[in-house]
Amino acid sequence: MSGRAHEPATERLSKDEARQRVQATGLRATAPRVAVYQLLLETERPLSHSEVVAQLASPDWDQATIYRNLLKLVEANLAWVASHVGGVARYEARREHDEPHYHPHFSCRSCGAVECLPEARLAAAVDKRWREAVAEAELQLVGECPTCRAAPSFTR
Ligand SMILES: [Zn+2]
Ligand SMILES: [Zn+2]
Repeated sequence: MSGRAHEPATERLSKDEARQRVQATGLRATAPRVAVYQLLLETERPLSHSEVVAQLASPDWDQATIYRNLLKLVEANLAWVASHVGGVARYEARREHDEPHYHPHFSCRSCGAVECLPEARLAAAVDKRWREAVAEAELQLVGECPTCRAAPSFTR
């Protein structure tokens, strides 16, 4: 706790550090697994499978490989599904300095972007007993994101 609320939500780990964290969970630290984990850590919002594919897919790492590794990371508790908005699972790394995942997510009706709102707090988690009881939270705020609001709209 303390002054961390305004730190960026991302966490940069070297490839070795990311590999060690994967190994610490008992998983094998394969190259695609470490790369997927690192990407999630470095991205300040939850990513869908296709967004991860768009960044990491290569002839060696196809969509299915990336999907399997997302599931493995969730199984090992290194990542979690932070949002199901629109029926799409979006994955976010669990970060060490994060308090359990109380931050809400914002989902844009216009462009479909899903962003973390790390500085917003859930009122339900104020009571210490309940805060400890909550394993994770999925709160979606819906609207039009700042980027869409700033863009001139020709469709309205
Ligand atoms: Zn938008
Ligand atoms: Zn988030």
